[in-house]
Parts: sequence; structure tokens; C-alpha cells
Amino acid sequence: MQIDILTLFPQLFQGPFSEGIFQRAVDRKLVQVNIHNIRDYTHDRHHTVDDYAYGGGAGMVLKPEPIFEAVEKVKKDTGLREGVEELPVILLTPQGRLFSQEVAQELASYSNLVLICGRYEGVDERVRQHLATDEISIGDYVLGGGELAAMVVVDAVVRLLPGVLGSEASAQDDSHTMGLLEYPQYTRPEVYRGWAVPEVLRSGNHAQIAKWRHEQAILRTLKRRPELLDRANLDSAEKQLVDSFKKL
Ligand code: SAM
Repeated sequence: MQIDILTLFPQLFQGPFSEGIFQRAVDRKLVQVNIHNIRDYTHDRHHTVDDYAYGGGAGMVLKPEPIFEAVEKVKKDTGLREGVEELPVILLTPQGRLFSQEVAQELASYSNLVLICGRYEGVDERVRQHLATDEISIGDYVLGGGELAAMVVVDAVVRLLPGVLGSEASAQDDSHTMGLLEYPQYTRPEVYRGWAVPEVLRSGNHAQIAKWRHEQAILRTLKRRPELLDRANLDSAEKQLVDSFKKL
């Protein structure tokens, strides 16, 4: 997958994308991330990227021209056939659709993504209307800029790409993948400060372990995020389990 990110602060992306799983994915050419400085697409002496809002009000608004030009350059360079191969152009905004594991899975199916990070009071409305094909919010709060939101989206998407995680199963059991929260995890030591790892996990009985984990995932979801169970596609045995947990 190729991901192109448009930002006024390219240096912010240096840390998060140069560690662990992400760096390995880059090294193995499973993902390529290109960071573009929006300022490089200006033509005036002062490299102006923002201006006052029409109608007045505090704060500056990002101008449309450099953002349009940057996306057009990325489009040209990707070589995707316009109208045939889809290139999502995603504007990060608190007004967008809420990001979720489902949206991450949807985005992971594309070969290319373009992410636009806003700043100040946001971007000129014409970017939203005539350039962006999607608008994503990472939550109902307002960040100072789209960079952290872009990092969240990229991190969640990249770990879903085939081959990025060590074993395909590790994403499969993750919270929100199958509509449930993940079961509790333990590692060594077996007993820490008197708190022992549950017996079943030490039993070596794989069927029992799988059953316990599945029950724990349902119980945990019921206790912490019961609304998720309504959308989790539970079968009748699982529904019975939920009912029995409710009676506890
Ligand atoms: N005035 C804008 C509004 O009320 O919708 C908020 C602008 S915010 C201070 C600056 C930039 O941060 C936005 O253009 C967007 O790119 C990014 N941003 C802020 N909150 C976000 C969120 N929850 N999800 C995604 N991006 C966000």
C-alpha cells in the first residue's frame, strides 16, 4: 500500500513511523509512506498556506490552492487510472465519519490512500466539496491538527495489511475485529505478587483455552461495552451465554 500524507508539519511523522511493526512493514515494502509539505506547493515568496476567514472570525483557514496542487501531483505520480482505479482522498476533520476498526478494514483494501491534515480553523470548504472523497474523525473532540489523527488512521490500517503482523490470527482476535473486546492476556511469571495466571491457561488443553477465551471476550464486552453485543452477530449459544452472564 502507498500512503501519501499532506501536512504543514512533516517532521511530526518521523518518530511514529520509524519503530517496530511499522518500520518492519516499510523495510519489507508492504507499505510506503510519503510525507508532503503543503508549503512546497505554494508559489508566492512567503509560501503562504493560510488566510483570514471570509466573513470574519478568529483564526486562519488553510488555502485551497496548495492542497489541490499537492493532491493532483500525488494522483499523477501514482499512475492510477482515473475513473478506473479508486484513490481515496481523506480529509481528517472532527466533522467526518467516526473512525473504527470497520473503517480501518475498509481502508486496508485500497492500494493507495491520500490523507490531508488540517490546521488552524481547518481547510477551505472547497477542499471538502471538490477534492476529498472521504472525511474521517478519530473521535468527538478537537485536536490542534490532523497529524495525530492521520497517524492513528495509518497505524490501524497498516497492521491489517497482509503479512504485516507476525501471524494473521493476531489481528483476528483483537478487540473490535469480530465485534467483541479481546479476552484477558497473561505472560510469565506464573504468579506475580500472589496473583496467579488462571489455571486453564496453564493446562495445555487448547480446546478449553479457546472456550475460556471466547467466554471471557463475551463477558468482558458485556461488562464494558454492552452496546457492542447488539452488533456482534452472536449465535444462539453465545446469546445464551450472555443471558447467563447477565444473571450472575
Ligand atoms: N474549526 C474546526 C471545526 O470546528 O470543525 C476544527 C479545526 S482543528 C483545530 C484543526 C485541524 O485538526 C482540522 O482541520 C483537522 O484536520 C484536525 N482535527 C481536529 N480534530 C480532529 C478529529 N477529531 N479527527 C480528525 N481530525 C481532527
